[in-house]
Amino acid sequence: MISPPAPDAEAQAVTIEGEVFTSAAPRLRYAVPSAIAPATTLEIAPGVTWLRMPMPIDLNHINLWLLEDGAGFTLVDTGLAAPRCAEVWTTLLGTPLLQERPLRRILLTHFHPDHLGLAGWLQDRLGIPVTLAKRGREALATFTREPAEWRATNGRHLQGHGLAEAATLLAGLHGVSRSGYPAAHLDDAQADGEWLTIGGRAWQVLETHGHADGHHCFHSPEAGILISGDQVLPAISSNVSLSAAHWGTDPLGDFIDGLQRLHALPAETLVLPSHGRPFRGLRERASDLIEHHEAEFRTLLAGLDAPRCATELMPVMYRRPLSGLHQLLGLQECIAHLEHLTRRGQLHRSQDNQGLFRYQRC
Ligand SMILES: [Zn+2]
Repeated sequence: MISPPAPDAEAQAVTIEGEVFTSAAPRLRYAVPSAIAPATTLEIAPGVTWLRMPMPIDLNHINLWLLEDGAGFTLVDTGLAAPRCAEVWTTLLGTPLLQERPLRRILLTHFHPDHLGLAGWLQDRLGIPVTLAKRGREALATFTREPAEWRATNGRHLQGHGLAEAATLLAGLHGVSRSGYPAAHLDDAQADGEWLTIGGRAWQVLETHGHADGHHCFHSPEAGILISGDQVLPAISSNVSLSAAHWGTDPLGDFIDGLQRLHALPAETLVLPSHGRPFRGLRERASDLIEHHEAEFRTLLAGLDAPRCATELMPVMYRRPLSGLHQLLGLQECIAHLEHLTRRGQLHRSQDNQGLFRYQRC
């Protein structure tokens, strides 16, 4: 079935996950003509149930996946640590679906709050294991162990890229991570390339970086399904941030490598993304996302008629002013693009005696 990308609310806002970036309609074939209602489920493929979890943020939902696993379900991702999401789970846990086939374990695609959020809360209630990539666990630990140090380090990083009000911005964001819900006891997930058996089916872990350290996609060649997390989304382009912790690395290069890797999977793979509707057209979407970043590179290069810092380039890269979390993610994504171009030898980075980084064309 071919259907146009829905003008969903999910695609209208600049979100925590990224900017709106829709592929041309015929390039993606959605598995359903419209999204299922919030807080409802649909068996989207044999043994695979889609739960559309509503969220009280700009990005108004996340897709969670229930994979039949013997007498129970393996759950992929959990929703935000917020009362609305916990209410949905409380109701769902009492329904025949989960009474007859209880949750037996949780796999996390990555550590972002909309995916990890309720893992500890579910674990407390159900006593089930939760796994996250080793690299994701390490990144999460850095963020949660020393929030003051995290703010100070990132404040210096953003100031070095021209954001004078970095400290105020980061102080305002601190509340985001404090939810009052229990933290999960996390076990290490399988490593990249290793296989899991879920309900008699083999799923391979594909670890892709750039959107989040230790981001896991799960691919079942037998079922022809890819659980793509936030690596490939049909209607928005995931945020790729270069934060202080990533200085000296190339998250955007990693993200593009991840897209190229997924591009090599079978063309007819059914993609189950964390946001938006399930679709076919993985190769087309991966190509379009790579081209989207190439277009951003061209835009930035064209905007560098003189040496400029990343903050000065924000209006070049984004068509509207960003604030709060979006400003932070937008600036870090701009830095990720500039640093990737520097690695490619197309830009030169210099630092003045105030510590400010400027980029110029080579
Ligand atoms: Zn994410």
